Amino acid sequence: MSLERKLRRTNAKKKKKDAEKALGKKAALFGLLPNKCLTCEAPFDKMNREQVMSWNVVVRQEEEKVHLYCPECWSKAQQIIKDFKERLQNKKEE
Ligand SMILES: [Zn+2]
Repeated sequence: MSLERKLRRTNAKKKKKDAEKALGKKAALFGLLPNKCLTCEAPFDKMNREQVMSWNVVVRQEEEKVHLYCPECWSKAQQIIKDFKERLQNKKEE
């Protein structure tokens, strides 16, 4: 086997391994999916399509953590962020 061919083979192998690794990481994160809302502890059923579509998942890749929020808490959080931003804005304008 020529050196070039050998190198190419090694590269292909590495690529496959990287892809497998990425997939494994995603699967691992999915496995980390909590079964309740982080804020109000409402139960979450990952087999429930409606819940899967409406609940909000926040992935913190660097911490390898997955935070889950029910639609109610999510909209409350959005409101708080909005209020906070508006308050900041008002402060600047004063
Ligand atoms: Zn909640």
